Amino acid sequence: MKNQLRQFAVIGLGRFGSAAALELMRFGHSIIGIDIDAKIVNKLADQLTLAAIADATDENALKDLNISNCDATIVAIGESLEASILCVLLLKNMGMSEIWAKASSKPHHTILSRIGISRIVHPEEEMGMKVAQSLNYPMVNHYMPIGYNLYVVEIKIAEKCHGISIQDLLKDVRDSIDPLLVRRKRETIKPIEPDFILELNDSLVLSGSLDILASIAPRL
Ligand code: ATP
Ligand code: ATP
Ligand code: CA
Repeated sequence: MKNQLRQFAVIGLGRFGSAAALELMRFGHSIIGIDIDAKIVNKLADQLTLAAIADATDENALKDLNISNCDATIVAIGESLEASILCVLLLKNMGMSEIWAKASSKPHHTILSRIGISRIVHPEEEMGMKVAQSLNYPMVNHYMPIGYNLYVVEIKIAEKCHGISIQDLLKDVRDSIDPLLVRRKRETIKPIEPDFILELNDSLVLSGSLDILASIAPRL
């Protein structure tokens, strides 16, 4: 499926906002980046579709930049709760339906949630959890929560699993864990039948609940 190219606004070009803006540019989307700090805007000017020095709490500035024409906006102002909330309210009043906002504290999250923002991100907490998960399960390369305590994990097969079948590896948890695919060199193998034999250097992608995935960790 070809990804439809869209226009996004990123408000606040700190570390989080600029990383999101540049990654969206790499995907080929068009990005309006806004920051109140001229130095930051100038640094990114050549890398975004449009980079503007503006105060995101100024309604006229947002209107002049046609922000309401964007498909979605990321509000990446963290430290100033006031600026973040004010900006989000202005965007909502302008009819913007898809707003993602960075929250930097519990009260910030609560206020964003009360004003109807459903896409609230906590980069520091989320990254902190990811680091802890990687330390806890060193064999896990990728770790993705997909909701309701379901996770998709990618596991690099250790030497002791070389030559083992999927049904042996997943014995007694076969009903709770789904093997999705195996990556072997540049090849993707799916579906994975129970008699599929794992090899060293395979990456096995599984889905299941965290406690059950954790329970098979010692076998991996
Ligand atoms: P980081 O993503 O770097 O961790 P942060 O969460 O610490 O950022 P800030 O540094 O407070 O948050 O804000 C991020 C960016 O938003 C900064 O570059 C800042 O200049 C910009 N910013 C803050 N207030 C406004 C505003 N009213 N209008 C536009 N940009 C703003
Ligand atoms: P966050 O993860 O919240 O974004 P940050 O990157 O903004 O954090 P700080 O808030 O400066 O970084 O520091 C994180 C924590 O480290 C704070 O709780 C602070 O008290 C603690 N800290 C800072 N300096 C030291 C130090 N020299 N020794 C021990 N702890 C420290
Ligand atoms: Ca910060």
